[in-house]
Amino acid sequence: MNPSPDDALWSRGWYRFARRLDSPNFGPRPAGSAIDLVVVHSISLPPGQYGGDEVQALFTNRLDWEAHPYFKAIEGMQVSSHFYVRRGGELWQFVSCDDRAWHAGASSWQGRDNCNDFSVGIELEGLEGGTFEPAQYEALAGLCAALAQRYPIRHVAGHEHVAPGRKQDPGPGFDWIELQDSLGWPPASFPPTA
Ligand SMILES: [Zn+2]
Repeated sequence: MNPSPDDALWSRGWYRFARRLDSPNFGPRPAGSAIDLVVVHSISLPPGQYGGDEVQALFTNRLDWEAHPYFKAIEGMQVSSHFYVRRGGELWQFVSCDDRAWHAGASSWQGRDNCNDFSVGIELEGLEGGTFEPAQYEALAGLCAALAQRYPIRHVAGHEHVAPGRKQDPGPGFDWIELQDSLGWPPASFPPTA
């Protein structure tokens, strides 16, 4: 798509209030894609360990696969998300929202496959099935609201909802009602489990 116009919140698909770290793992969105879905994920490397820079390293293909036994299981993976929200609410961005990040994999939402084509991926620092911090909900809600000002966002779903059976993040510890309440969007904008 053509770069979206700049405004007070966005510059060429980059959110002005996020720390920018460019990932090489992205591509163009298919022509005519309406960016109408937010996919929420959870990630920590190694799982359950917070505060390091391993996630940023993974998304920029600089993770040392030898540094932890768990990393051997994901060795060579080339992935990215648009955003990463740390436990304290700090926000990072790796790919312009005008471009297609590599976060959802094989996926489908309401009859449309390949969610990466039409979604924005947001990773929350956390553990699948674990809980998340108030500062993360605050940052996530602010980001979703800002996205909805720039893109025709209509739904927010978890990775578990767009890749059921294959993915479980963010899992039952994520409070969809909390997000729904802060955004004030209609229930139909959220997964049926909310
Ligand atoms: Zn995920």
